Amino acid sequence: MIVGIDLGTTNSAVAVWRDGEAQLIPNALGDFLTPSAISIGEDDQVIVGLPARDRRETHPGRTATAFKRLMGTQQRTKLGRHLFDAEQLSALILGSLKADAETFLGEPVTEAVITVPAYFNDRQRKATRRAGELAGFNVRRLLNEPTAAALAYGLQDRGEKEPFLVFDLGGGTFDVSIVEIFDGIIEVRASAGDNRLGGEDFNEIVVDLARKELPADLLELNSPNIIELQRAAAERTRRALSENDSADFVITIGDRQEKVQITAAAFEAAAEPLVARLRDPVLRSLRDSGVMAETLSEIVLVGGATRMPIVRRAVTRMFGRFPDATINADHAIALGAAVQAGLLSRDEALDEVRLTDVCPFTLGVNNAVRDARGGMQTGIFSPIIERNTPIPASRVNYYHTISDNQQAIVFDIYQGEAREVKHNIKLGTMRIPVPPKPAGHVTVECRFSYDTSGLLEVDVTVPDTGLTYNLVIFDEDAKIANQQMEQRRAVLAQLKVHPRDDATNQAVLARAARCYESFIADRRELVGTWILEFEAALAAQDPRTIEHARKQITTALDHLEGERFL
Ligand code: ADP
Ligand code: MG
Repeated sequence: MIVGIDLGTTNSAVAVWRDGEAQLIPNALGDFLTPSAISIGEDDQVIVGLPARDRRETHPGRTATAFKRLMGTQQRTKLGRHLFDAEQLSALILGSLKADAETFLGEPVTEAVITVPAYFNDRQRKATRRAGELAGFNVRRLLNEPTAAALAYGLQDRGEKEPFLVFDLGGGTFDVSIVEIFDGIIEVRASAGDNRLGGEDFNEIVVDLARKELPADLLELNSPNIIELQRAAAERTRRALSENDSADFVITIGDRQEKVQITAAAFEAAAEPLVARLRDPVLRSLRDSGVMAETLSEIVLVGGATRMPIVRRAVTRMFGRFPDATINADHAIALGAAVQAGLLSRDEALDEVRLTDVCPFTLGVNNAVRDARGGMQTGIFSPIIERNTPIPASRVNYYHTISDNQQAIVFDIYQGEAREVKHNIKLGTMRIPVPPKPAGHVTVECRFSYDTSGLLEVDVTVPDTGLTYNLVIFDEDAKIANQQMEQRRAVLAQLKVHPRDDATNQAVLARAARCYESFIADRRELVGTWILEFEAALAAQDPRTIEHARKQITTALDHLEGERFL
């Protein structure tokens, strides 16, 4: 069985193709979304998901979130006495989803389709693939998130229509893609976005509004979690505002509880500058793909933050029509990945669809160009495969010698969008010997071929000599990383993960501990008593007693701080 996984910045999810449809798989807590958070407990055990995110406030030095942003970098995060890179942290999330799938399906699960943002570069894609392998998956395919969204909405079945737009606003990132189905092939024609815009930014707006009304001395109170408390309160308020015209921002510090009423109108007025930032990536994606907004056949909403009415209205205004939001926005990507998984396992119902990807960045070489005064300007980027070209792709450009009796042409190969090569990423270099002739009299042909596995092949032919030179480019960092793969797998294997069957209780305990730490005096004492009671129930080891006690403490905590949400 192949599973489909949405490995998100804020939340992750796993789904499977079964009985002719994509189905989400619940985690040990019964939720379809697992927060992308990892924490290391005092007992040195790995905690994954909601309980880990709950520890972000109480154990910042032991907890990591939003590490998807670091994929493809060497940056490491210290959690307790361990150092992890983003690949390993992602592997722990994937491992947890794998266990959830195995429990749900009652069989070992070793194959997966994992989604990545369309703009992820080669390095980030390889890192994602390795994270899957570290978790024990054979990664059958990396799938672009907008393509997954298209599959989830079943857009592949409706035949050839005009292209559509995928509008994905998550916790911290915003992605727009133009997708087209042509001849049974789904193609991402263009993608653009803002990787610093998402639900979290809207939380800051709520915090700013609330702080204006909160008593000054409260804000000066020396609570270690003040920032996180405000963020959590804002998240709660903002979600309530998705359903109501006004909501309370409730903050409890020490023994004090303060409430500020926030109206949807005030929130929306203050959020206007953020909403304005949604426009630019939309325009860019349309421009890059050469598609006109009027010809879009559909606007598809993805990502939890598109649940905000202000975002929906902005989209409606931008396109002059209502977007399609028939699927739960934060489940769409995982469901689409499961559709792809079904395709790969050759399920008949889906046999017809094929998929392509696009090259998410421009590939080219350095070049010299003549400037206005007749001099030579070097280090200028000459694109060969433009970004958003459907892959596999093969493109040719021609280059001439620039000085008399030049002995060789040196091609430095780059990835990026900048005009000057020094701002792009250098992938490799080739020195091509050429026969001595006057400047401009030798022409060579440079062919780039790029395939779906992210392999770039460069062929340079010198017609004068009939010789061809070939270079296959692998990611140098990836090579090093591969050597370390075994070692890193061993590191993960040594870690103990909290037993799955205990997950619900652990989550409740983590939440209670968080409340205990953020309150003082009476409230704190109260939470302390609840924890003792719950621990006693756990010690009794009778499932009924435990369940009863868990319900009690959960209700009590809900009462104290508002209901839990993902
Ligand atoms: P990502 O793609 O970043 O992993 P998601 O698609 O899961 O994230 O979206 C997470 C974001 O969605 C969070 O910022 C959260 O506040 C927001 N969100 C989820 N539900 C709602 C809701 N009902 N109203 C407003 N925002 C919501
Ligand atoms: Mg997402």
